[in-house]
Amino acid sequence: MMSRLGSWPAECTVQGREGRRSASGCQYGGIGSTVILESASCSLCGEDVASVLYRGIPDQFGHGPHRFDLVRCKVCGLVRTQPRPSRETIGAYYPPDYAPYQVYEGKDRRALYRRLLRRVSEYPYRVRHGAPLHVEPPPGGAARMLDVGVGDGSSLREYSQAGWEAWGVEPSPEAAASAASRAGVPADHVIQAPAEEVSLPPESFDLIRLSHVVEHLHDPRRVIAKARLWLRPGGRVIAICPNFASWERRLFRRRWMQLDVPRHLNHFTPDTFLALLGSEGLAVRSMRPELEFMTLPGSVLNTMGLRPKGGVAYRALFLGLMPFTCLARALDTAAMEVVAEAAAA
Ligand SMILES: [Zn+2]
Repeated sequence: MMSRLGSWPAECTVQGREGRRSASGCQYGGIGSTVILESASCSLCGEDVASVLYRGIPDQFGHGPHRFDLVRCKVCGLVRTQPRPSRETIGAYYPPDYAPYQVYEGKDRRALYRRLLRRVSEYPYRVRHGAPLHVEPPPGGAARMLDVGVGDGSSLREYSQAGWEAWGVEPSPEAAASAASRAGVPADHVIQAPAEEVSLPPESFDLIRLSHVVEHLHDPRRVIAKARLWLRPGGRVIAICPNFASWERRLFRRRWMQLDVPRHLNHFTPDTFLALLGSEGLAVRSMRPELEFMTLPGSVLNTMGLRPKGGVAYRALFLGLMPFTCLARALDTAAMEVVAEAAAA
């Protein structure tokens, strides 16, 4: 089925926990937040002719009443969420209890348990793909890194503790306010703004991390172009995003946890992810699956009609499926992990 997508104006009130209005005017998880839905052309090629893949998918966490379609661009193949909340109002779909803003660290028993479980469970992945991505010390001398989308600040802290001068960008005012102190970096090292709106000096960073970020962006090409501009000569970009071509997506279809509408605005395959990075002057040096364990149990819960987070059901499934998940991680997995650098001029 092919359709030319027309304008899709709509406003609706989000039900949810009480939140706070940010200084920028975005609202995060507030009862009564107004979400404006918009139609958008393809973020990769700019065309608007698309075929419909899935219709009427709700937010799997139940933060809002809207339903969303997934459509595939007939020109370049990029899959996108349609309609989508506007950049100014999408904050309503990122409430304070959004998982990446939750803190799992320190001496919390769950954090220790997770680390132990991870050590054992990463073995099949390690055999097939090598050591999982981990934070390395800077390559020598003073080195500066930028974490785009700092979430709870845990990655920022790891890089800082490894010797990097760590900076971050985060659109959520609540997360940005606490991430710097949690990471132990100066408060002005975490810039609270959507990544599309941030300006930084060219050739400022030796490493830029975009982990599970590009799929959330209204204008991913603009942010990739900025990352290319901010990279010092010889610097690297680490970019990770869900793989729409994975077997898990084909198995779970509209119930796949990583569809995560409407927070995920674009849904990349290896081809469209490489096209995105290449379109703004990044050359990919390596690409492999990301090691992660959350998507499979979350997708099973989704299929059962339950919310894919927290609770006894999630923990039971997480543990019950772990042997299968570990073996599956040696194969094609739910997300792609790319290391790229500036392409030669
Ligand atoms: Zn396209």
